[in-house]
Amino acid sequence: MKKFLSILLSAVMAVSMVACSSSTSETGIKDGTYAGEGSGKGGKIAVELTMKDGQIADIVIGENNETPGFADAMTQLRQTMIDTNQIDIDIVSGATLSSKGFIEAVKDAYSKTGAELTDLVAKKVSNNSSEMADSYDADVVIVGAGGAGLSAAITAAENGAKVIVLEKMNNVGGNTLISGGEMAVPGNWLQKKEGIEDSVETFYNDILKGGDNENDPELVRVIAENALNAAEWLKDDVNVTFEDYMLFFGGHSVKRSLVPLNASGVELIEKLTVKAESLGVEIYTNTQAKKLVVENDKVVAVKAENNGKEIDFNAKNGVILASGGFGSNLEMRIANNPEMDEKILSTNSVGSTGDGITMAEEIGAQTVDMQYIQTYPTCDPETGTLLYVGDVRLEGRAILVNLEGKRFVEELERRDVISLATTEQTGGVSYMYFDEASMQAAGVAESHKTEYENLIERGILVKANSVKEAAEHFGIDAEELQKTIDRYNSYCETGKDLEFNKRGKLIAFEEGPCYIMKSAPAIHHTMGGLKINKEAQVLDKDNNVINGLYAAGEVTGDIHGTNRLGSDAIADIVIFGRIAGENAATAK
Ligand code: ADP
Repeated sequence: MKKFLSILLSAVMAVSMVACSSSTSETGIKDGTYAGEGSGKGGKIAVELTMKDGQIADIVIGENNETPGFADAMTQLRQTMIDTNQIDIDIVSGATLSSKGFIEAVKDAYSKTGAELTDLVAKKVSNNSSEMADSYDADVVIVGAGGAGLSAAITAAENGAKVIVLEKMNNVGGNTLISGGEMAVPGNWLQKKEGIEDSVETFYNDILKGGDNENDPELVRVIAENALNAAEWLKDDVNVTFEDYMLFFGGHSVKRSLVPLNASGVELIEKLTVKAESLGVEIYTNTQAKKLVVENDKVVAVKAENNGKEIDFNAKNGVILASGGFGSNLEMRIANNPEMDEKILSTNSVGSTGDGITMAEEIGAQTVDMQYIQTYPTCDPETGTLLYVGDVRLEGRAILVNLEGKRFVEELERRDVISLATTEQTGGVSYMYFDEASMQAAGVAESHKTEYENLIERGILVKANSVKEAAEHFGIDAEELQKTIDRYNSYCETGKDLEFNKRGKLIAFEEGPCYIMKSAPAIHHTMGGLKINKEAQVLDKDNNVINGLYAAGEVTGDIHGTNRLGSDAIADIVIFGRIAGENAATAK
């Protein structure tokens, strides 16, 4: 049902744990409230389990660092446990670590009752969605409430359409929510302030070059030409707050990426949701689109499922697929690129399972570039979470070294290039080195405080008083690392990196406190997807428009070619989301 922002932002909660017990039920399980702990994707997960009359009466999800997409998996598991009165249940696919950590925490709490898991008597689940009607009517039905879907919804509503958005997860946001939310915008207000020269043409060429010219130039041009306008729309109409600094993402010619408040997609999703709801857009969460309905050669409805109940969402004007990529669908990944197997962790939201691509293919849509799957080079080596502390690199203030203490790639290279170079190093990992001045300048210990503390606690990030001490923590060759730093500092004096030709301003490292962060590549973005034209209409295998069907965002292909440059996705999803929204709203 409709969900509100309080739920979106409730992923990290702190509760006080009170353990007490009272009477014993017929099952022999002692009533009471028990605290438990497990270890998930973001570290410790705390829960509080309440047993009453031998049954699970409640589970409070306590302190944890699971990002919203994964926290959502815990919410699902919690509900299933209460509904079925079982703890040893199946994990949520795509959220293995969070699921296992949560189940472990509840088991830990339950073990304090002294009873066995087999003492829990299973309850039958009733698939009761009585609050939902059998069908709903709208002008535009949108599948997916991430950045593309919400941008489309707002624009469609602003063009007078009655809009319904379907979201299969319990909360809105998708990959957009857990991203840093940065947006590449040539000619933006901060570039002007800093005197950075940029142009639509330079951006256009960067996107094409970054994608090895496998991109559709017509679609790329749409992004290059509309990025500034889209950013101004976010700032002025949607009330998104942007920070007053930019980041320099790999593969771009100049620094041009705007940063939303706290360098987090939460700011985008929060503001887009408020705006959409203020325009009367109805958002149904926990509602998964399953099938597109075609009548007289036109897509006219979406068949969806809410709590086991099938519901028809009729779309008078059109359907927009904004269901994201397929990074969390292992089978689909391997089918399209066998190298992207289970050995590679993923940064993606649980909901990124390619449903929109599958549904559209069933009615004859064309897919393109499906084999191009991007890994993000600097992720948590144990969980795959994208590490925002690593944004120090994007400020141009970090180097990447290997276990031998040597640099091995230009730190502002394309993601695919750094990822590939990293997999070729000892252990398939990199070590990001930076000093205290860089940490202060980037401010990531504050803006990503929870992540920072978690990494320090787990020893994946170390702060030390000397290069030697930091290197020894990971077993890095300290002497060689010191030589690498000295060499890098000498390049800073001349402004020319003689080894890797690092772009941007080179800033020398100071002596004293420093940091090293261990990281590895993880699956991040699927470049392939549905073939659209510049009006965001989905094309069939003969390049004909499929009437009534639009797509925007990561569900589409051919925009980023072999490789998407950092911060181009937000530009893409907002621009094509808005085009799809306007065109669907005004279609006959
Ligand atoms: P984009 O960046 O293209 O907007 P996101 O990953 O941010 O993509 O958002 C896509 C959203 O679509 C996610 O919230 C995801 O849970 C949702 N979604 C995916 N498949 C379905 C489906 N079958 N029905 C409803 N929502 C879906």
